[in-house]
Amino acid sequence: MTTAVGHEKINKTNAIFLLVAHLAAVGSVVWMATGHFSWWTLGLAILYFELCSISITAGYHRLFSHRAYKAKSWWRALLLIFGAASVQNSALAWSKDHRRHHTFVDTDKDPYNAKRGFWWSHIAWVYHEADEYDDGPRVTDLENDPLVMWQHRNYVLIAIVSTVVVPGLLGLLWGDPLGAILAVGFLRLVVQWHSTFTINSLAHIVGTQPYSTRNTSRDSGLIALVSWGEGYHNFHHRFQADYRNGVRWWQFDPTKWMLWTLQKVGVTFDLRRTPRETILKALANPRTFDDDAPASTPPDDMTPGDAASSDAASGPVAVAAGS
Ligand SMILES: [Zn+2]
Ligand SMILES: [Zn+2]
Repeated sequence: MTTAVGHEKINKTNAIFLLVAHLAAVGSVVWMATGHFSWWTLGLAILYFELCSISITAGYHRLFSHRAYKAKSWWRALLLIFGAASVQNSALAWSKDHRRHHTFVDTDKDPYNAKRGFWWSHIAWVYHEADEYDDGPRVTDLENDPLVMWQHRNYVLIAIVSTVVVPGLLGLLWGDPLGAILAVGFLRLVVQWHSTFTINSLAHIVGTQPYSTRNTSRDSGLIALVSWGEGYHNFHHRFQADYRNGVRWWQFDPTKWMLWTLQKVGVTFDLRRTPRETILKALANPRTFDDDAPASTPPDDMTPGDAASSDAASGPVAVAAGS
């Protein structure tokens, strides 16, 4: 059931869950501040926060939405499990939104259109019903991926087990099951949500535009600090299939450093990079777009795990939306 608000309709399920989660996060702080603090609980919450953040930046975003690299199955499964624990929908649904964001950026067909203002792009789009379009980018590559579809079918169950059941059971070990559910399940979740949401909102408002002035995306080292390196969003919108967001070696992009390190031990491979000359050309004139990577969906004949071009700026690239 939906409720009309102006031209929009509220998604009651999402609205209620957002509210409950935020209240539970406040409850977690109150619980810890009133004599129930546990270092074990806090440690588990931090561990969950890191694993879940990685699952969104390295998983939902750079791997599943943009196919910026390839990886071993166990790594992809890990990202899908902790991605579900991030309660941002299944990887399939998230990627569909994110590819639409890149394809239709700053228009009414962009799910988190930054031109509708901070509040909409940050969180309001989540608790409103999504418009349906027939011309959105394809996700057939993901629909043909058994692991992605397994997570999609079992998303709610995985999310409940990972955010409530597992923290509660672990909390029993040190006598703080309720505190663990509140802190690991909800306080961690709410902080992580706002980290991700910041990319859709502030990364389209605050910062510089060294690579492209065609859309509202911006580069911000400050936002990168709170988003596992996703704050270099202007580079990302111009070269979306590149596994790096912070392309310079010193730019804070721990997701990039982690994927590079995992490549050294064979967990990730075929990391896609934009040629240096192409980047320099964009920097020299961000108002020209001749060298842009085509904004297309992954071709149907690229099955999951196929080697993509290591040149992220040439050939068909995966478009992503979201963060
Ligand atoms: Zn964006
Ligand atoms: Zn993206």
